[in-house]
Amino acid sequence: AQERYASIRDKPAITRDGVRIGMHMNAGLMADLPSLRSSGAEGVGLFRTELQFLVRNQMPKRTELADIYARVLDAAGSKRVVFRTLDIGSDKVLPYMKPTDEPNPALGWRAIRVGLDKPGVMRMQLQAMIRAAAGRPLTIMFPFVAQFEEYRAARAEVDKTIAREERLGHKLPETLEIGAMLETPSLAFAPRRFFEEVGFLSIGGNDLKQFFFAADRENERVRRRYDTLNVSFLNLIERIVDRCAETGTPLSFCGEDAGRPIEALCLAAIGLRSLSMRPASIGPVKSLLMRSDLAALRAVIDEARERGDQSVRPAVMEHLRAQG
Ligand code: PEP
Ligand code: MG
Repeated sequence: AQERYASIRDKPAITRDGVRIGMHMNAGLMADLPSLRSSGAEGVGLFRTELQFLVRNQMPKRTELADIYARVLDAAGSKRVVFRTLDIGSDKVLPYMKPTDEPNPALGWRAIRVGLDKPGVMRMQLQAMIRAAAGRPLTIMFPFVAQFEEYRAARAEVDKTIAREERLGHKLPETLEIGAMLETPSLAFAPRRFFEEVGFLSIGGNDLKQFFFAADRENERVRRRYDTLNVSFLNLIERIVDRCAETGTPLSFCGEDAGRPIEALCLAAIGLRSLSMRPASIGPVKSLLMRSDLAALRAVIDEARERGDQSVRPAVMEHLRAQG
């Protein structure tokens, strides 16, 4: 399928009306790295570090992790890699960690909550990332941040780790960018100060959607019940876009919907300028973006919202069909 899109692989995604959309890929295993080149991704918008932990039967060592992260950065060359710290708990249970029996694991002790309560593993990971970057840019993203204070605490861990590495005489990263995933509705309503302080945000649409609609992403009975193009959800995304624009906070979207052409197009129409998706989706999404006029699509979306449509999908589909 990637051959089909070979002619646009190295072209930027620019819409008919001249809007450039950043096309990044999601990754997590070494096997994903060749896709950096074959997909034409501009970088890794989400590197899910937990995958390296999930494929082992014991906790990886710091040196092992540093080696893996260094190889990821080597493969990326000048392309940016966003390393997300461990996102475990909920559906992602490590075989070598004591399982916590929770009635609602998706709402439970997971991701950054574990990282802040038991900082040992997160510190080891941060150290491994810092050592891997040595003299190169480093980008770190924290998952599942629900309130400002969690971001601040996580950021303080990075600062402490950097100071320690410096004392130990290790070479520091050339630059350091620290951001958060926006995957809980609460963070969309955080104080303005949060948007000013955070280095960048990436919308984790998979989780954001499940919490917004209170519909478990793993539960077949409810998971397709609410459309991503539901007006309420688009209104939330638009609010996030606007808040980020006010403070100049770089924003991207890295949930599965970024890899679905119609959804990606609508995200771009309401203001997203950077998307991160599975590598195989980059061709199809880019192809549709390059054939589309975002302003025209935006008008269709706005009309559907004014009419009170539940989802903008029917109107968008009709518009695309009419366009041919
Ligand atoms: C998300 O929640 O949208 C996301 C990208 O993270 P994950 O799918 O790994 O939870
Ligand atoms: Mg998530």
